[in-house]
Amino acid sequence: MSDNAHRITTVYHDLALRTLEVLRVTRITPRMVRVTLGGPELAGFIDQAPADHVKAFFPAPGETEPVLPLLGDDDEGLVFPDSPPYPISRDYTTRRFDREAGELDLDFVLHGSGVASVWAEQAAPGQKLGLAGPRGSVLADLDFDWYLLGCDETGLPGVSRYLEILPEGAVAKVFVLVDDAAEEHHLETRANADIVWLHRDGRAHGDSDRLFTAIRDLEFPPGVPYVWIAGEAGELRPIRRHLRAAGFDREITDVDGYWKRGTVNLDHHEPDEDDEEETVAG
Ligand SMILES: Cc1cc2nc3c(=O)[nH]c(=O)nc-3n(C[C@H](O)[C@H](O)[C@H](O)COP(=O)(O)OP(=O)(O)OC[C@H]3O[C@@H](n4cnc5c(N)ncnc54)[C@H](O)[C@@H]3O)c2cc1C
Repeated sequence: MSDNAHRITTVYHDLALRTLEVLRVTRITPRMVRVTLGGPELAGFIDQAPADHVKAFFPAPGETEPVLPLLGDDDEGLVFPDSPPYPISRDYTTRRFDREAGELDLDFVLHGSGVASVWAEQAAPGQKLGLAGPRGSVLADLDFDWYLLGCDETGLPGVSRYLEILPEGAVAKVFVLVDDAAEEHHLETRANADIVWLHRDGRAHGDSDRLFTAIRDLEFPPGVPYVWIAGEAGELRPIRRHLRAAGFDREITDVDGYWKRGTVNLDHHEPDEDDEEETVAG
Protein backbone atom coordinates (compact mmCIF):
# COMPACT_ATOMS: atom_id res chain seq x y z
CA MET A 1 0.00 0.00 0.00
CA SER A 2 1.29 3.41 -0.95
CA ASP A 3 2.81 6.06 1.30
CA ASN A 4 0.03 8.23 2.67
CA ALA A 5 1.95 10.28 5.21
CA HIS A 6 0.49 13.45 3.76
CA ARG A 7 -2.99 12.33 4.78
CA ILE A 8 -2.17 12.50 8.48
CA THR A 9 -1.53 15.84 10.16
CA THR A 10 -0.26 16.28 13.69
CA VAL A 11 -1.04 19.57 15.39
CA TYR A 12 0.68 20.49 18.67
CA HIS A 13 -0.97 22.58 21.37
CA ASP A 14 0.41 24.72 24.18
CA LEU A 15 0.48 22.64 27.31
CA ALA A 16 -1.80 23.81 30.12
CA LEU A 17 -2.50 22.55 33.63
CA ARG A 18 -6.00 22.64 35.06
CA THR A 19 -7.90 21.63 38.16
CA LEU A 20 -11.45 20.71 37.22
CA GLU A 21 -14.52 19.76 39.16
CA VAL A 22 -16.65 16.65 38.74
CA LEU A 23 -20.08 17.78 37.55
CA ARG A 24 -21.71 14.38 36.92
CA VAL A 25 -20.96 10.69 37.04
CA THR A 26 -22.79 8.33 34.70
CA ARG A 27 -22.53 4.54 34.68
CA ILE A 28 -22.43 3.60 30.97
CA THR A 29 -22.08 -0.14 31.53
CA PRO A 30 -21.27 -2.23 34.63
CA ARG A 31 -17.54 -1.66 34.04
CA MET A 32 -17.38 1.76 32.37
CA VAL A 33 -18.08 5.06 34.08
CA ARG A 34 -18.32 8.50 32.47
CA VAL A 35 -17.05 11.42 34.54
CA THR A 36 -18.18 14.85 33.33
CA LEU A 37 -15.80 17.62 34.35
CA GLY A 38 -16.19 21.38 34.31
CA GLY A 39 -15.29 24.58 36.09
CA PRO A 40 -13.66 27.91 35.19
CA GLU A 41 -10.29 26.33 34.36
CA LEU A 42 -11.83 24.45 31.42
CA ALA A 43 -11.68 27.77 29.51
CA GLY A 44 -9.32 27.56 26.55
CA PHE A 45 -9.34 23.75 26.46
CA ILE A 46 -8.50 22.37 23.02
CA ASP A 47 -9.90 19.14 21.64
CA GLN A 48 -9.55 18.42 17.96
CA ALA A 49 -9.18 14.76 17.11
CA PRO A 50 -10.61 11.35 18.10
CA ALA A 51 -7.49 10.14 19.89
CA ASP A 52 -6.87 13.38 21.82
CA HIS A 53 -5.93 12.54 25.37
CA VAL A 54 -4.98 14.18 28.61
CA LYS A 55 -2.94 13.33 31.65
CA ALA A 56 -5.38 13.16 34.53
CA PHE A 57 -3.96 13.90 38.00
CA PHE A 58 -5.62 12.15 40.94
CA PRO A 59 -5.77 13.08 44.61
CA ALA A 60 -3.59 10.76 46.71
CA PRO A 61 -5.56 8.31 48.88
CA GLY A 62 -7.13 10.25 51.75
CA GLU A 63 -6.60 13.63 50.01
CA THR A 64 -9.11 15.75 48.12
CA GLU A 65 -6.84 17.93 45.95
CA PRO A 66 -4.75 16.45 43.14
CA VAL A 67 -1.06 17.37 43.17
CA LEU A 68 -0.04 18.86 39.81
CA PRO A 69 3.44 19.07 38.32
CA LEU A 70 4.84 22.41 37.17
CA LEU A 71 4.88 23.76 33.64
CA GLY A 72 8.44 24.03 32.40
CA ASP A 73 9.79 26.71 30.10
CA ASP A 74 9.28 26.49 26.34
CA ASP A 75 9.57 22.86 25.19
CA GLU A 76 10.41 21.50 28.62
CA GLY A 77 6.87 20.22 29.17
CA LEU A 78 5.75 19.04 32.57
CA VAL A 79 8.26 19.21 35.42
CA PHE A 80 7.73 16.64 38.16
CA PRO A 81 8.98 17.30 41.71
CA ASP A 82 11.78 15.09 43.03
CA SER A 83 10.35 15.02 46.55
CA PRO A 84 6.84 14.30 47.86
CA PRO A 85 4.03 15.01 47.39
CA TYR A 86 4.33 13.45 43.93
CA PRO A 87 1.67 13.98 41.28
CA ILE A 88 -0.23 10.79 40.40
CA SER A 89 -1.26 10.69 36.76
CA ARG A 90 -2.79 8.39 34.14
CA ASP A 91 -3.68 8.97 30.47
CA TYR A 92 -7.33 9.35 29.43
CA THR A 93 -9.05 10.07 26.11
CA THR A 94 -11.23 13.14 25.85
CA ARG A 95 -14.46 11.35 25.02
CA ARG A 96 -16.52 14.55 24.55
CA PHE A 97 -15.79 18.23 24.87
CA ASP A 98 -18.63 20.75 24.74
CA ARG A 99 -17.17 24.23 24.80
CA GLU A 100 -20.53 25.98 25.10
CA ALA A 101 -21.77 23.82 27.95
CA GLY A 102 -18.33 23.91 29.59
CA GLU A 103 -18.20 20.11 29.88
CA LEU A 104 -15.55 17.50 29.29
CA ASP A 105 -16.26 13.76 29.50
CA LEU A 106 -13.69 11.11 30.35
CA ASP A 107 -14.74 7.43 30.25
CA PHE A 108 -13.02 5.22 32.82
CA VAL A 109 -12.75 1.43 32.70
CA LEU A 110 -13.40 -0.04 36.13
CA HIS A 111 -10.86 -2.85 36.16
CA GLY A 112 -10.65 -3.36 39.89
CA SER A 113 -7.30 -1.97 40.95
CA GLY A 114 -5.20 1.06 40.13
CA VAL A 115 -5.46 4.66 41.28
CA ALA A 116 -7.58 5.79 38.32
CA SER A 117 -10.00 2.88 38.36
CA VAL A 118 -10.50 3.14 42.13
CA TRP A 119 -10.99 6.91 41.88
CA ALA A 120 -13.56 6.57 39.07
CA GLU A 121 -15.49 3.97 41.06
CA GLN A 122 -16.07 6.45 43.89
CA ALA A 123 -16.17 9.69 41.82
CA ALA A 124 -18.92 12.11 42.86
CA PRO A 125 -19.94 15.67 41.97
CA GLY A 126 -17.79 18.31 43.62
CA GLN A 127 -14.58 16.26 43.63
CA LYS A 128 -11.42 17.58 41.94
CA LEU A 129 -9.33 16.15 39.12
CA GLY A 130 -6.20 17.69 37.60
CA LEU A 131 -5.54 17.69 33.85
CA ALA A 132 -2.66 18.39 31.51
CA GLY A 133 -3.05 18.45 27.74
CA PRO A 134 -4.04 17.46 25.16
CA ARG A 135 -0.56 18.11 23.92
CA GLY A 136 -1.33 17.33 20.33
CA SER A 137 -3.96 16.07 17.91
CA VAL A 138 -3.51 13.54 15.11
CA LEU A 139 -5.88 14.44 12.31
CA ALA A 140 -6.49 11.70 9.77
CA ASP A 141 -8.27 12.56 6.54
CA LEU A 142 -11.83 11.32 6.38
CA ASP A 143 -11.69 10.08 2.80
CA PHE A 144 -9.62 6.92 3.14
CA ASP A 145 -11.04 4.00 1.14
CA TRP A 146 -11.84 2.26 4.40
CA TYR A 147 -11.13 2.36 8.13
CA LEU A 148 -10.03 -0.43 10.41
CA LEU A 149 -10.85 0.42 14.03
CA GLY A 150 -10.15 -1.91 16.92
CA CYS A 151 -9.97 -1.64 20.69
CA ASP A 152 -10.61 -2.98 24.12
CA GLU A 153 -12.52 -0.79 26.59
CA THR A 154 -9.59 1.63 27.01
CA GLY A 155 -9.60 2.42 23.28
CA LEU A 156 -13.37 2.54 23.02
CA PRO A 157 -13.60 6.29 23.68
CA GLY A 158 -11.28 6.85 20.69
CA VAL A 159 -13.07 4.37 18.44
CA SER A 160 -16.42 5.92 19.41
CA ARG A 161 -15.10 9.33 18.42
CA TYR A 162 -13.81 8.06 15.06
CA LEU A 163 -17.22 6.54 14.36
CA GLU A 164 -18.90 9.84 15.23
CA ILE A 165 -16.84 11.88 12.74
CA LEU A 166 -16.69 9.44 9.81
CA PRO A 167 -18.93 10.72 7.02
CA GLU A 168 -21.86 8.95 5.45
CA GLY A 169 -20.66 6.22 3.14
CA ALA A 170 -17.25 5.78 4.79
CA VAL A 171 -16.48 2.09 5.11
CA ALA A 172 -15.43 1.00 8.60
CA LYS A 173 -14.62 -2.42 9.99
CA VAL A 174 -14.80 -2.16 13.75
CA PHE A 175 -13.83 -4.69 16.42
CA VAL A 176 -14.43 -4.01 20.11
CA LEU A 177 -13.21 -6.39 22.81
CA VAL A 178 -15.20 -6.39 26.08
CA ASP A 179 -15.97 -8.82 28.88
CA ASP A 180 -19.49 -9.78 27.87
CA ALA A 181 -22.77 -8.58 26.34
CA ALA A 182 -23.46 -6.32 29.34
CA GLU A 183 -20.55 -4.11 28.21
CA GLU A 184 -21.95 -3.50 24.72
CA HIS A 185 -23.64 -0.20 24.01
CA HIS A 186 -24.86 1.77 21.04
CA LEU A 187 -22.15 3.55 19.03
CA GLU A 188 -23.34 6.53 17.01
CA THR A 189 -22.20 6.74 13.37
CA ARG A 190 -23.26 7.81 9.89
CA ALA A 191 -20.61 5.59 8.35
CA ASN A 192 -21.18 2.26 6.69
CA ALA A 193 -19.75 0.50 9.74
CA ASP A 194 -19.66 -3.21 10.55
CA ILE A 195 -19.32 -3.18 14.33
CA VAL A 196 -18.37 -6.51 15.87
CA TRP A 197 -18.38 -6.87 19.67
CA LEU A 198 -15.95 -9.55 20.82
CA HIS A 199 -16.27 -11.14 24.27
CA ARG A 200 -13.45 -12.30 26.53
CA ASP A 201 -15.61 -15.17 27.69
CA GLY A 202 -14.06 -15.21 31.14
CA ARG A 203 -10.45 -14.62 30.05
CA ALA A 204 -8.57 -11.97 32.03
CA HIS A 205 -8.08 -8.49 30.58
CA GLY A 206 -4.91 -8.58 28.49
CA ASP A 207 -5.14 -12.34 27.94
CA SER A 208 -7.41 -12.65 24.93
CA ASP A 209 -6.56 -13.30 21.29
CA ARG A 210 -10.07 -12.45 20.10
CA LEU A 211 -9.10 -9.04 18.71
CA PHE A 212 -6.16 -10.54 16.85
CA THR A 213 -8.07 -13.49 15.37
CA ALA A 214 -10.95 -11.25 14.29
CA ILE A 215 -8.57 -8.91 12.45
CA ARG A 216 -6.53 -11.79 11.07
CA ASP A 217 -9.68 -13.37 9.63
CA LEU A 218 -10.96 -10.12 8.13
CA GLU A 219 -11.10 -9.99 4.36
CA PHE A 220 -9.72 -6.52 3.69
CA PRO A 221 -11.92 -4.27 1.52
CA PRO A 222 -10.17 -2.82 -1.54
CA GLY A 223 -8.14 0.39 -1.42
CA VAL A 224 -6.11 2.27 1.15
CA PRO A 225 -7.19 1.97 4.79
CA TYR A 226 -6.56 4.09 7.85
CA VAL A 227 -5.98 1.91 10.90
CA TRP A 228 -6.50 2.94 14.50
CA ILE A 229 -6.28 0.26 17.18
CA ALA A 230 -5.74 0.70 20.93
CA GLY A 231 -5.77 -1.75 23.80
CA GLU A 232 -3.49 -3.97 25.88
CA ALA A 233 0.09 -3.86 24.59
CA GLY A 234 0.62 -7.63 24.48
CA GLU A 235 -2.67 -8.29 22.71
CA LEU A 236 -1.82 -5.74 20.04
CA ARG A 237 1.61 -7.14 19.18
CA PRO A 238 0.40 -9.94 16.84
CA ILE A 239 -2.04 -7.51 15.24
CA ARG A 240 0.73 -5.02 14.47
CA ARG A 241 2.87 -7.81 13.00
CA HIS A 242 -0.03 -9.13 10.94
CA LEU A 243 -0.81 -5.72 9.45
CA ARG A 244 2.85 -5.05 8.66
CA ALA A 245 3.19 -8.44 7.00
CA ALA A 246 0.09 -7.60 4.96
CA GLY A 247 1.85 -4.44 3.71
CA PHE A 248 -0.02 -1.80 5.69
CA ASP A 249 1.82 1.52 5.57
CA ARG A 250 3.17 2.46 9.03
CA GLU A 251 2.18 6.10 8.56
CA ILE A 252 -1.47 5.19 8.37
CA THR A 253 -1.43 2.28 10.81
CA ASP A 254 -1.66 3.43 14.40
CA VAL A 255 -1.64 0.43 16.77
CA ASP A 256 -1.11 1.85 20.25
CA GLY A 257 -0.66 -0.07 23.52
CA TYR A 258 -2.79 1.89 26.01
CA TRP A 259 -1.94 -0.31 29.00
CA LYS A 260 0.10 -3.38 29.74
CA ARG A 261 -0.80 -6.31 31.91
CA GLY A 262 1.13 -6.10 35.20
CA THR A 263 2.47 -2.60 34.51
CA VAL A 264 1.36 0.41 36.51
CA ASN A 265 0.82 3.52 34.38
CA LEU A 266 2.31 2.31 31.10
CA ASP A 267 4.15 5.05 29.24
CA HIS A 268 2.72 4.65 25.74
CA HIS A 269 5.54 6.76 24.31
CA GLU A 270 7.97 3.98 25.14
CA PRO A 271 8.20 1.94 21.96
CA ASP A 272 6.87 -1.57 22.25
CA GLU A 273 9.46 -4.27 21.56
CA ASP A 274 8.48 -4.41 17.89
CA ASP A 275 7.22 -0.87 17.52
CA GLU A 276 9.60 2.03 17.11
CA GLU A 277 6.87 4.48 16.22
CA GLU A 278 6.33 7.71 18.14
CA THR A 279 2.91 8.61 19.47
CA VAL A 280 1.61 12.03 20.38
CA ALA A 281 2.02 13.11 23.97
CA GLY A 282 -0.94 14.02 26.14
C1 LIG B 1 -3.33 7.73 25.15
C2 LIG B 1 -4.11 6.88 26.13
C3 LIG B 1 -5.47 7.08 26.28
C4 LIG B 1 -6.21 6.28 27.17
N1 LIG B 1 -7.55 6.47 27.30
C5 LIG B 1 -8.26 5.76 28.20
C6 LIG B 1 -9.66 5.98 28.38
O1 LIG B 1 -10.26 6.86 27.76
N2 LIG B 1 -10.31 5.21 29.31
C7 LIG B 1 -9.65 4.24 30.04
O2 LIG B 1 -10.29 3.58 30.87
N3 LIG B 1 -8.34 4.02 29.87
C8 LIG B 1 -7.63 4.75 28.99
N4 LIG B 1 -6.29 4.53 28.85
C9 LIG B 1 -5.67 3.47 29.63
C10 LIG B 1 -5.35 3.88 31.07
O3 LIG B 1 -4.47 4.99 31.06
C11 LIG B 1 -4.69 2.68 31.77
O4 LIG B 1 -5.56 1.58 31.80
C12 LIG B 1 -4.20 3.03 33.16
O5 LIG B 1 -3.20 2.09 33.51
C13 LIG B 1 -5.30 2.97 34.20
O6 LIG B 1 -4.76 3.41 35.43
P1 LIG B 1 -5.09 2.70 36.82
O7 LIG B 1 -4.58 3.62 37.86
O8 LIG B 1 -6.52 2.31 36.85
O9 LIG B 1 -4.24 1.38 36.80
P2 LIG B 1 -2.57 1.25 37.00
O10 LIG B 1 -2.29 1.75 38.39
O11 LIG B 1 -1.95 1.97 35.88
O12 LIG B 1 -2.39 -0.27 36.92
C14 LIG B 1 -2.70 -1.16 38.00
C15 LIG B 1 -2.85 -2.57 37.45
O13 LIG B 1 -4.01 -2.62 36.65
C16 LIG B 1 -3.70 -3.09 35.35
N5 LIG B 1 -4.58 -2.38 34.38
C17 LIG B 1 -4.46 -1.11 33.90
N6 LIG B 1 -5.46 -0.83 33.05
C18 LIG B 1 -6.23 -1.95 32.99
C19 LIG B 1 -7.42 -2.31 32.29
N7 LIG B 1 -8.03 -1.45 31.46
N8 LIG B 1 -7.94 -3.56 32.47
C20 LIG B 1 -7.35 -4.45 33.32
N9 LIG B 1 -6.22 -4.17 34.02
C21 LIG B 1 -5.67 -2.94 33.85
C22 LIG B 1 -2.23 -2.79 35.15
O14 LIG B 1 -1.65 -3.67 34.21
C23 LIG B 1 -1.68 -2.97 36.54
O15 LIG B 1 -1.40 -4.33 36.78
C24 LIG B 1 -5.55 5.31 27.95
C25 LIG B 1 -4.16 5.13 27.82
C26 LIG B 1 -3.46 5.91 26.92
C27 LIG B 1 -1.97 5.70 26.77
